[in-house]
Amino acid sequence: MHLLLKDKRVLVSEFGLCLNRKSAIRRELSLRKYSYKWKNVDSLFIIVFSTRTCCIIFVIVGLKSSDYINALIIVDVQNCFITGNLALVTSPAHEDGAEVVPIINKLIQTVSFDVIVYTHDWHPPDHISFFENLQYRRQYLEGDQNKTIHMFDNVTYSGPKFKTVQVLWPTHCIQGTDDAALHKDLIVSSSKNNTIHIYKGIDPDIDSYSAFWDNEKHQKTELDAMLNEWRVTRVFVAGLATDYCVVATAVDAKDLNYTTYFVEDACRGVDNATIAAKKEDMKNRGIVFIQSNQVKALIDSASYNQIHFTLMISFSIFSFIL
Ligand SMILES: [Zn+2]
Repeated sequence: MHLLLKDKRVLVSEFGLCLNRKSAIRRELSLRKYSYKWKNVDSLFIIVFSTRTCCIIFVIVGLKSSDYINALIIVDVQNCFITGNLALVTSPAHEDGAEVVPIINKLIQTVSFDVIVYTHDWHPPDHISFFENLQYRRQYLEGDQNKTIHMFDNVTYSGPKFKTVQVLWPTHCIQGTDDAALHKDLIVSSSKNNTIHIYKGIDPDIDSYSAFWDNEKHQKTELDAMLNEWRVTRVFVAGLATDYCVVATAVDAKDLNYTTYFVEDACRGVDNATIAAKKEDMKNRGIVFIQSNQVKALIDSASYNQIHFTLMISFSIFSFIL
């Protein structure tokens, strides 16, 4: 009566007890889903105590559940960085952004992430990061405002809203354009329950490499709050480009106390020198490097951290007959 098998799922009695805090967290999430997947039920013990007049049956359900709540953050796998104006293949490292698509798809298909996050570089046409908009912002340049500046140069703007250091990129990822769309072959989870889309760089006056903050940490996106709502503890970061938006997202995740994994083979970058420097920086910060084919084993190496007890009492006259 408390344990129902239906459609390969196990519905566990709401009278179950949580034995520790992590179980309580997991239980809360599970209640949101209303069921435990059959594959998460690892063991089932039935203990029967009987007397002449009644028997007491304890059903113990051991749930194979992770100590961690895992999120995959897929950074900017958009046309602009694969075939558009900022296609990585034309950058100094000549890496092909399209190569991450099948790797990330395999992760989505084979690993049971609790949450999947897609980030979108999502700029208005007058965005500060565009070299083409330099002419409208020269009055805010620090230093000689008439000096010759080239695409991909680093400049410092004193305003209009924030002082910020900015690389001048070609126009890219304008909101709503095909250039800004996710790559057509990327699997986009249709589940509204555990899929998050983050649109960053939407303020014309400040760029945002990270999925958590703008580049000067004036404005936070909603990502941290949403991951907290899910009690996410571990994030796996993959996507484009390694030395900019991926590393910025991973570093901020680590600073926000998520256990952070950099999925090395699922990322492509701009420049070999900056890729190497940023990787070193990530290692020094305690971000864990992992290959995509190791992620499933890591997440599946679950521990038993939750046991539900269900108590059933039935009275019997059977013994009297005997
Ligand atoms: Zn951008």
